[in-house]
Parts: sequence; structure tokens; C-alpha cells
Amino acid sequence: MARIAAVLLPLPLPEAFDYAEPDGMGLAVGDQVAVPLGPRLVRGVVASLRDAAGHNRPLKTVNSRIDDPPLPESVVAFVCWAARYAVESPGYPLAMALRGLRSPPPRPIRRTFPTGAAPARPTAARTKVLETLAASPEPLSPPDLARAAGVSSGVVKGLVDEGVLAVETIPAPDNLFPPDLTRPGARLNIGQLAALEALNAQANPGDFAVSLLDGVTGSGKTEVYMERAAQVLADDPDAQVLVLLPEIALTQAALDRIEARFGARPAEWHSAVPPPKRRQVWEAVASGRARIVAGARSALFLPFKKLALIIVDEEHDGSYKQEEGFIYHARDLAVARAKLAGAQVVLASATPSLESLWNAQNGRYQWLRLNARHGAARLPDVSLIDLREHAPERGRWLSRPLVEAMAQTYARGEQSLLFLNRRGYAPLVLCRACGERMKAPDTDSWLVEHRYTGRLVCHLTGFSMPRPAACPHCGAKDSLVSVGPGVERVEEEARSLFPDARVAVFSSDTMMDAASTRRLIEDMTAGHIDILVATQAAAKGHDFPNLTLVGVVDADLGLRGGDLRAAERTFQLLAQASGRAGRREAAGRAMIQSYAPDHGVMQALAAQDRDAFVATEMAMREMSGLPPFGRLAAMIVSSENPVLLEEFVHTLAAAAPNAENLEVFGPADAPLGLVRGRRRKRFLVRADRSVDLQGFLAAWRARVKVPGAIRLTIDVDPHSFL
Ligand code: ADP
Repeated sequence: MARIAAVLLPLPLPEAFDYAEPDGMGLAVGDQVAVPLGPRLVRGVVASLRDAAGHNRPLKTVNSRIDDPPLPESVVAFVCWAARYAVESPGYPLAMALRGLRSPPPRPIRRTFPTGAAPARPTAARTKVLETLAASPEPLSPPDLARAAGVSSGVVKGLVDEGVLAVETIPAPDNLFPPDLTRPGARLNIGQLAALEALNAQANPGDFAVSLLDGVTGSGKTEVYMERAAQVLADDPDAQVLVLLPEIALTQAALDRIEARFGARPAEWHSAVPPPKRRQVWEAVASGRARIVAGARSALFLPFKKLALIIVDEEHDGSYKQEEGFIYHARDLAVARAKLAGAQVVLASATPSLESLWNAQNGRYQWLRLNARHGAARLPDVSLIDLREHAPERGRWLSRPLVEAMAQTYARGEQSLLFLNRRGYAPLVLCRACGERMKAPDTDSWLVEHRYTGRLVCHLTGFSMPRPAACPHCGAKDSLVSVGPGVERVEEEARSLFPDARVAVFSSDTMMDAASTRRLIEDMTAGHIDILVATQAAAKGHDFPNLTLVGVVDADLGLRGGDLRAAERTFQLLAQASGRAGRREAAGRAMIQSYAPDHGVMQALAAQDRDAFVATEMAMREMSGLPPFGRLAAMIVSSENPVLLEEFVHTLAAAAPNAENLEVFGPADAPLGLVRGRRRKRFLVRADRSVDLQGFLAAWRARVKVPGAIRLTIDVDPHSFL
């Protein structure tokens, strides 16, 4: 044995395992290998190699090298970094990096062609087959040929056996084409040009650098970053670009724009891509053939051969935080990924996160601002509607001033968008007779009524049941009432107010797949919808030319419950929603319904003074040492056994290491105290930035033995406090 290979396995193990490298195997970091683990052989990736001299413990031997592309060294380093960051087993990020390999590629294509030989017995059926094939503009597989000719498959098979037809098998094409870099880009305006030049000047090929592209909605950030991508791709024929998009399954329009710019659709990577296609994309990324990839957060784990640029579009978006399984924030990981790969990062947003603004203020990120919309478009006028003064009637949600504005908009042939970040018909159903609130059986959350499906649904776990005719608690008939509005209910109200208008709902329930989403966006863009009632799914990135009025139905919604980012998130969401209005020549306006119009968030929205809002919020965070000035982590402990859970959290609390400039709060009952039958408790850790928070968490967890019936989850930089 000459060398020892430390091999990472895509399993929940604490670290890489050592194996002996057989003589002559010549392994390198990133190679995929089969190694014995217990009685099985499992796939692993070589993380490091070292000399075996002086090592005298017997080791198992690497079985073989797997004939799949190796992971680039920067990906292996990223997997290890991500694991340490999240205080998790490296097996989780490794499994993500290998996810594209879980399925074989699509089935190969079989094509039939004539060899030129004449059939010995030219029957009518055989002649028909040959004629059909000659007339077909495309090659046909044997079954397709038989079908097209209207004969049995035996006829085609006979011709093949006789040598009149031959069949060739070719791999299924992946339909990934190189970007056409000779196409001209948009003619940038002066502000955009300055931003592009700053991006071009910031990084030479191979340089790590981060820029915050901070531009108001409609300022043309997309145009700027597409031109930066074009430059990067032109500078180096091997360079690859990753564009991260939030909720990419809902934002196909962004892909259309990239396609229009580069004459080729980017490779797509997200959960709706079928596994065989994912395999093709994974391989094309590894080989360097896929030069532009547009993906969801998990695309960060793809094996880019030469990643040169990562764009994080709408960088403030909450969906970049992965909350289950391997917990991470894609924006933070994008920066780490770029550092390890020597790539540039562009974070784009009209409402950047406080974290990114802080880095920009400190000069760690280059700060590029676009303060005006492109062309003749102006930012919308924003006004507040005080619901205490203009309360809608009982069971209604739209105030008189908003309805009047909708009527004017409709009369002008323009479009309105009513924004309410709540799916379904009503967020709560209760019994008028006994007061019982309908809850999920195993989870602390109210069931949301959905009228389209006639069901009550738990949005947390997906549990659902038909809306009962009688109260399940007291048995009273017809006593259940729907409380509060969801988008479906606002749609009902809009229809009753404007019976002739074309009204549609845009939410993740009504947009089940990419095709229906696309159709709705096309309808909205083409002006075939007058009033669109939408959740945040439509507040993002869309560009509807004829939309001139945005009504925010319940601006206070996100402020209730008040966690660390409640104000920041509400500001971002409502500024983005308002920013959908007036993106062309016609002036736009946004009307915000609130019971708390004096709240700082509402005032900042009305004054369109983001900087003032940011300054106030930053000062509050600084005073309390909260992110971005300090760091947070949560430990969530859950179990089906409440007694065991109680005992364990006390053991855990007692085991917390001593540390300076760090506080541990808890244990406390989680606000969501019961999920899927498991009781939940939380600890919250706050630390100064100088503290090695991950080191603290790892040491803490190492001091306790977690019983099998307990689940302990660490969430570094939590965004949910439930
Ligand atoms: P953002 O990403 O900042 O919200 P977009 O890139 O979507 O802004 O731009 C808003 C609209 O203005 C889009 O329709 C876009 O095509 C158009 N636009 C922006 N910049 C230009 C430009 N330089 N030339 C032509 N059209 C532009």
C-alpha cells in the first residue's frame, strides 16, 4: 500500500473514511470510487490522498474506480466547507453533488433507415413501410414506423431481419446548445453601462469577487448581468455561468429572456426537471459543455468544470433558504462556492438583504446602484389606505378607495394586481356553535380552506381532508364558518364587484405545473386578464406591461408574529409587489391597505425611502447584536415522546460549553410545538461575529448522546423561528 485515500460517502457519517489505494490505481482527489462499507460496496468520492508510510492500522481497500466524471477539486472542497458551515455530515452535501447520477440518462433513441437492399417478397404491407419511411421528414423508431405505416410490428421486424432496414441506436440528445456570443445584447443606458463596466473591471478570469447589483424594480438589472455573462463567456471559451433564480419552476420567463439573448436555452436544474434529464445536465456541466445553467439553490452543488460567474437573482428571496434536510442559505453558499472556484458573484435585487447591504457598506462587496427605471417608465406612486378609516364591509376585504382605483384602471383597459400572500380561500375555519378551530390532527397549525378542491389543508405537512358538513367536535350541522381571506376569497369578491372583468388567481395551488404557469403569465402579459389575484408567486420578477395598479390587500400580515426579519421581509415583499406596477409608459400606482399605516415599514414604503428604512432597521439590529452584526443559530429538538424530550433538553442545556461573547437562550417550546406528531423545543444561540459559532455548536453536540427517539437539528442563521 502506497497511499491512503480519505473517501467521502453520501451517507450521514461524521467524516471521510480511510481506505488503502491499490497499487497502480493512480487515484486523484474527486475520483469516484466503489468502497466496501460493511457487507456492501458503496459509491464515494476521494477527498484527499496521503502517504501511507508509518500507518500500521489495517485498512480496507478501495474496490474500483467508477467510470463517472470525477468531481472537480473545488466541488470537493465546497462539500467539506458546506458541511462545516451547516454543522452537518459531509454526506448530505455530497449526496446533493451526486444527485444528478441517481438516474440513468433518458433511453437511447432507435432510428430505422433503409439499407438499399430490396425485399425478397415485396408485399403491400412491406411496400407501405418503405414508402412511409421515405416520406417521413424525421427518422423513426421501429414501433413508430410500424404505427405510421399502419402495419404490425412484425412487418418492420421482418424487414430488419432480412437486412432491408437497419436500426441504429444513438444516445438521447440533451438539446443543450452553446450560447451564440455573436448576438448583440441590449443597448444599455448610461447607468447600466457604468454598472457593467464596474463588473468587467472587478474581476479577471479566475478572480473571486462579489458585487451587489442594487437597482430599483425595472431598472434593467437582468440586462446588466446578462451582458456580464456574455463577457465572461467570451473571455474564456471554457467559462461557465450559473444563474440562480428563486422558485425557478414559476419563473420560466427568466429562462426565455436568457434564451432570447443567447439564442440557446440555458441548462435547467430544479426539482421539476425529470431525473433522466438531470443526469444529462449533470454530465454536460461536468464536461463543461453546458455553459449557462439556470437553477434553483441546489444547482450550487453541480460539478462545474470551470465556474466563472454566479448570479443570484432576487438575492433577498426567502426561498434561497433551504429549511429541511441539509439546511443552508444559497446566497451565503454561493459566495463560498465562488471563493473556492475563483469565480465572480453578482447579487441582484431591488430590495437587498440587510446582510448584503452591510457587506456593501463595509466595502466587502462592490456596490452598484441603478436608481431609475429604464426608458420612460417611472416608479409607481405608493399610497397607504388606513383600514381603520376605510374598513371594508363584513366579509369583504377590499376598501372603497382601492375598489375605486380598480374601477378606473379597468375602465382605461389597464390591469390590476391584488396581492395577498395567503393561499386558499380562508386561513381558518371555526365552528360557530362551539368555537372549535379546525386543526390538523398531528400538527399545531390551522387548516386552510381551499374552495377549488373543497378541502381543508395543512400548509405545513400537506395533510388534507374534505370540508366536513358538521363540526367534528360538537356535531353541530352547518356551523362551520370561514374566517379571513385567502386569494380565492379575494378573487370571489373581485368577480362580484366586476362581473364582466376577466379575473384569475396566481398561487402555487392554481399553478400546478410549468405549462399552466406559463399560460397564465402569457395571458397576463398579453392583456387577457383584467384582475390578477396573487400570492408572492406573482410578486417576483414578472414584467407585465399593462399592469398599472397594485393593491396590497393585507400589508400587516407579515408583521404579525414579529420575528427578527418580519419588518425586513414585509418591506421587501411589498416593495417588490408594488414594483410590478407601471413598468412601461403608463404611470403605475400601488395602494397598500393597512391597520397600522404609521408603522415604520408602511411609512418607508409610502415615501419610497428604502435607505431610511434600512438605516433604522440596521440600527436596531446593531443595538441588539443581531444579524448582520451578530450571528444566530437554532437547535431544534423534537420527539414523539414528550417525557424523553423534556429530559433530553435539560441534559442538552446543561452540556452547553462555556463561551464568551455568546448567549444561549432556551430551551423553550417552539411556536410550532407539534409537527407530524413530534413535540418540538428550541434553543437559540446568539454570538458576536468574532466567535467560531460552528465550532461551538459542534462541540456542544459532541457532548451529548442523542437517543434514537430524539431528532436534533441545527439551523445556522435561521430564517424561520417557528
Ligand atoms: P429588473 O431586472 O431590474 O427588474 P429588467 O431587466 O426586467 O429590470 O428590465 C425591465 C424592463 O426594461 C424589461 O422589459 C427590459 O427588457 C427593459 N430594459 C431594461 N434595460 C433595457 C435596455 N437597456 N434596453 C432595452 N430594454 C431594456
